[in-house]
Amino acid sequence: MTYDPGNIFAKILRGELPAFKVYEDDKVLAFLDIFPRAPGHALVIPKAPSRNLLDVESADLAAVAAAAQRIARAQVKAFGAEGITVTQHNEPAGGQEVFHLHVHVIPRQTGVELRA
Ligand code: 5GP
Repeated sequence: MTYDPGNIFAKILRGELPAFKVYEDDKVLAFLDIFPRAPGHALVIPKAPSRNLLDVESADLAAVAAAAQRIARAQVKAFGAEGITVTQHNEPAGGQEVFHLHVHVIPRQTGVELRA
């Protein structure tokens, strides 16, 4: 389980691929998911290289969590989200497809299922 700097989110961090950024600070970047499971679906990533929850430094994890909270609160205010779903996948067996740590923050409305 090593970190591959050729992953898509590392390319976004380096400015080699575009992304619709919704939040940034010195430790964290957040941007919209390219295949949103609901409108406003955001991904929060640490700027430091980290494959997933299994290798992330605790300070980076705390920064990601704090940013996820800010984004969730903004989704309630900006989109009128009635709820928020937060998910995070680790390794292929855990559903991870992009191997730079990321947290999904997804605005929800009552009775509206997530897109596949
Ligand atoms: P995972 O299954 O690894 O937790 O989720 C990876 C997420 O990254 C998916 O929701 C997918 O839609 C998203 N994604 C994959 N490629 C890109 C990309 O190039 N740009 C953005 N913004 N999201 C991406």
